[in-house]
Amino acid sequence: MTEPTQAFVNSGWIEVIVGSMYSGKTEELIRRLRRAQIARQRVAIFKPSIDDRFGRDQLVSHSELRIPSRAVKTAKDVLRYAHEAQVIGIDEGQFLGPDLVKVCERLARRGKRVIVAGLDQDYLGKPFEPMPQLLAIAEYITKTLAICVVCGNPANRSYRKKRRTARVVVGGADLYEARCRRCYELGRRAVAPDEPPPPGGSDEVVPVAARPRPARRRRPRRGVRKAG
Ligand SMILES: [Zn+2]
Repeated sequence: MTEPTQAFVNSGWIEVIVGSMYSGKTEELIRRLRRAQIARQRVAIFKPSIDDRFGRDQLVSHSELRIPSRAVKTAKDVLRYAHEAQVIGIDEGQFLGPDLVKVCERLARRGKRVIVAGLDQDYLGKPFEPMPQLLAIAEYITKTLAICVVCGNPANRSYRKKRRTARVVVGGADLYEARCRRCYELGRRAVAPDEPPPPGGSDEVVPVAARPRPARRRRPRRGVRKAG
């Protein structure tokens, strides 16, 4: 006689959290992982070792939330350390390469809940592999938006402030800022409404927010006479 199988089998699934820099991706990832930990689920958390901005052994959001994590060099390393886990969190998925898609599929097939956060676009605004592929196969997708540092509109682009041509240049506020579509395309010409124009380029400056309109003179309505 064969052993009885479990009546309920968890099918596993993939959740993807994408957005620009400073959109709260890591914060949202940590929030979900914390809730799983509170429910006493076995959680394994990973991030690429290339991203050592906040140390190698924890995820840290820009809002200073922290959770211990393991640094991995490749997507396949995740498989090695995720055996026991029911919930797997992966941050900065765009740095783990195309193998990450297969790895996530395998983990989900084993009944695990896989949550991946990452940049959906690179600094040129191009889809940042393997996040687009993960978005296609995921059951749940969350897009987080930042706020444009120039004009305050919702921002989904990571604008690189210094000229570096490599696609992957890990950096923080010194190198990147969140921008809306319009301010991203204006590049260096984008100027905050209350900021002085950059030196030497005043003719090219395109103010982002509409300038306050001069107050219109009110015409007296026809047929209305001043009393007195
Ligand atoms: Zn803007």
